[in-house]
Amino acid sequence: MNVPRKDRVLFLDIDGVLNTPQDRMYPDPDECLTKELLARLDAFVSEVQCSIVISSSWRYRHTVFSLRQVFARHGFANVEAIIDFTPDLQTGAWNNLFAERGLEIDAWLKEHSEATHYAILDDTNDMVHLVSHFVQVDDVTGITNADLVKIKDILES
Ligand SMILES: [Mg+2]
Repeated sequence: MNVPRKDRVLFLDIDGVLNTPQDRMYPDPDECLTKELLARLDAFVSEVQCSIVISSSWRYRHTVFSLRQVFARHGFANVEAIIDFTPDLQTGAWNNLFAERGLEIDAWLKEHSEATHYAILDDTNDMVHLVSHFVQVDDVTGITNADLVKIKDILES
């Protein structure tokens, strides 16, 4: 594959983005991926050459290396585009187990000034002030080509 561009970063959620409701039901969480949706993202990454930073809760049970292996096992070729995870800002308080993802993405961006163009794919809208970079995915379908057209516009603007 091409070397991913460090100036273009796609923040990627997984559940509801890369799996359909049926494919979220496997007992092994690492099987909960829809190959057609991964293939769609793979083609996009080949074209746009963006880097990928994972914002999904999958990062709590994976390293970048092991997540690349899971994606590769499901046919995703551009695994080296996956470069990092967003930081975990959860407070641990019972009613605030997960920080808003937008804040975690913002924290990552503050450490990576080279990422001059970024876009966010998620099925949940907790992107706070980053919402103009955000494309909300319908968790019934997972990512669509229409979503990726919007993401491309954001990354290339
Ligand atoms: Mg999700």
